[in-house]
Amino acid sequence: MSTVPSLYVPWLEAALPGPIRGEPEATCDACPMCAAGQPWRFTVDVKCCGYLPSLPNYLVGRALRDGGPGAATVRARIDGKVAVSPLGVGCPPDYAAAWKTVERTTGFGTDPTLVCPHFDRGRCAIWAHREAVCTTWFCRFDRGDAGEAFWLALRSMLQTLEQGLSRWAVGELGIDPGRRPVSWGRWADDREALFVATAERVEALRWDEVRAIGGFELRVKLREVKRAFVARA
Ligand code: SF4
Ligand code: SF4
Repeated sequence: MSTVPSLYVPWLEAALPGPIRGEPEATCDACPMCAAGQPWRFTVDVKCCGYLPSLPNYLVGRALRDGGPGAATVRARIDGKVAVSPLGVGCPPDYAAAWKTVERTTGFGTDPTLVCPHFDRGRCAIWAHREAVCTTWFCRFDRGDAGEAFWLALRSMLQTLEQGLSRWAVGELGIDPGRRPVSWGRWADDREALFVATAERVEALRWDEVRAIGGFELRVKLREVKRAFVARA
């Protein structure tokens, strides 16, 4: 299983001086944060998935195309029609407000009302297509601060990349990403097909094309990731 979502593997291999190492002490199937004696103990029915990820359109499309439980969880969010647009599936305002309250207390990792809809019996149903935060969040860093700094830099870069690519992909379909609300165009009655179409556009990109789409902001963030990669090595 790759450390980052499969779509990003070839791009990051082209962008960085070597493969990205995971965090071996973050043993998610036997989560150490749920073990007795933790000062801040998570519960097994939540773990670190008391979070609702905003998925860019093309990752939604990839999860739908895979089928199975992951597709079902994504479809339920699309059918819910809250915070759903051609750019992706976002976080509803009431969830965001509840999450902020919980984050200020010790509820993170313990409040089952905030568990992610993709959390399926202790595992992530869309692991291969998780977004920037879920890709880079760890409870353990084998290189301490250098490890944390690397994952934070990568998160920031992937967030820029995800925003840029989701806007680019709808533009490729003839939809103006700057209009509010963003139009569904001829996909108004088949939203899933739009998400799959964006996945197909984005999957065809090489890293140099992704880099060009991301522009100056992506290049600046990539520089930071490279610095942090070397410091973590
Ligand atoms: S990353 Fe999350 S699920 Fe994995 S070990 Fe840490 S708290 Fe547990
Ligand atoms: S998408 Fe997966 S990794 Fe991210 S919060 Fe949900 S279940 Fe956890």
